[in-house]
Amino acid sequence: TPPNDAEGTPSSGGGGDEDEDKPVSPAERSLLQKIIRKGLVENKNDIEIQRKDPTSPLYSVKSFEALHLKPNLLKGVFQMGFNAPSKIQESALPLLLADPPQNMIAQSQSGTGKTAAFVLAMLSRVDPSKNYTQALCLSPTYELAIQTGEVAAKMAQFCPEIKIRYAVRGEEVPRGTKLTEHIIIGTPGKVVDWAIKFRFFDLSKISVFVLDEADVMIATQGHQDQSFRIHKALSRSCQMMFFSATYEHDVMEFAEAIVTNPVVIRLKREEESLDNIKQYYVQCKNQDEKYQAIANIYGVVTIGQAMIFCHTRKTAQWLVERMTKDGHAVALLSGDLTVEQRIAVLDRFREGKEKVLITTNVLSRGIDVEQVTIVVNFDLPIDLQRRADCETYLHRIGRTGRFGKAGLAINLIDSPESMDVLKQIEQHFGRKINLLDADDVDEIE
Ligand code: ADP
Repeated sequence: TPPNDAEGTPSSGGGGDEDEDKPVSPAERSLLQKIIRKGLVENKNDIEIQRKDPTSPLYSVKSFEALHLKPNLLKGVFQMGFNAPSKIQESALPLLLADPPQNMIAQSQSGTGKTAAFVLAMLSRVDPSKNYTQALCLSPTYELAIQTGEVAAKMAQFCPEIKIRYAVRGEEVPRGTKLTEHIIIGTPGKVVDWAIKFRFFDLSKISVFVLDEADVMIATQGHQDQSFRIHKALSRSCQMMFFSATYEHDVMEFAEAIVTNPVVIRLKREEESLDNIKQYYVQCKNQDEKYQAIANIYGVVTIGQAMIFCHTRKTAQWLVERMTKDGHAVALLSGDLTVEQRIAVLDRFREGKEKVLITTNVLSRGIDVEQVTIVVNFDLPIDLQRRADCETYLHRIGRTGRFGKAGLAINLIDSPESMDVLKQIEQHFGRKINLLDADDVDEIE
């Protein structure tokens, strides 16, 4: 029998349940987003460029060839399947590769090509014939540093002379060592240790300094101070690059303190909307009928992948067990997994090994998963007052204008309370959510 989420509460769940998952930290969200995404996030907004020094030249390129990269680096870029620069790269790359070097602050949402841009800049700026560290990238966490390093390794696959090293937990260097790797990618604390405490490399010789995921960085205690300490030891001629997915006041203050005389490049996030989404609800009597509705939908819809949102871990677990028992390949992402387990789950889902991802609030907002065509709210999102959480609804269901195909959203209703929440959502967005007969789901195709 289906579990009761919490005594006396309807199965649409309730705010404040112990069994309820809180959204993950900014650092982890950023990481999971990188794992689950297949490619670039498109954005129809225009690039905004501000520069303090009006004499600094501005270009934009439409091809990687136009950047005059080292041939083996260009080969690596193409090998990664990058045919043309992304929107942010069109404007950022010429500046990052310019002579004299240009300082930059760039902000655009996750998935728009920032990492690829600064990795390319680091790789093309280092001189592999000189055996000391010339480029330094600060990342907020171990996992994010590794992600960046993997991009660098791929892009440099035809440039074996360029050496890269991680300065992260678990990496040990004997006292007295002078590092010879050209690029170091690391977390602020470890870099302070290596560069300032133990002098394994010389910050004054760094010619490219990257501060990545600045918005995540400042959310971590101590990272800002450590970044300033590192920054203070850099030479005046060092090129500074600063990247952030958001544009809040405190992030920009941090940016201005780190980067002198920058060109500021911004690509505003595209608003999500329900324009391209067909929204339905299914009337169910209880959790069993909700399960049946899902089974019917699953039988009909074969294209694309689906995400199912549950309010509590218990419901999610129950659903996984039932679907698995019925022979469906489903994945579960919930709050009790370790970071490594979450990465593994999302990796498999991205590769399409499972067609359905069942999740709780861990992934409720801000994850762009374009391969997902169906979103099922097993439980509607509600706030602590048990009213409709319309913002979360939009984040789960909504799309930016980037996907041509229509998406499908299905809400499972099992009580007068959840029906009321549905009405609130309808009213909030001014869009009708139509009744779907779960025994006759053919109409959704
Ligand atoms: P961000 O750092 O802004 O989150 P990334 O640099 O990680 O963005 O890029 C997002 C995704 O798009 C990655 O999967 C990356 O491999 C891919 N990508 C980046 N630049 C290009 C490009 N020019 N063409 C195609 N894919 C790209």
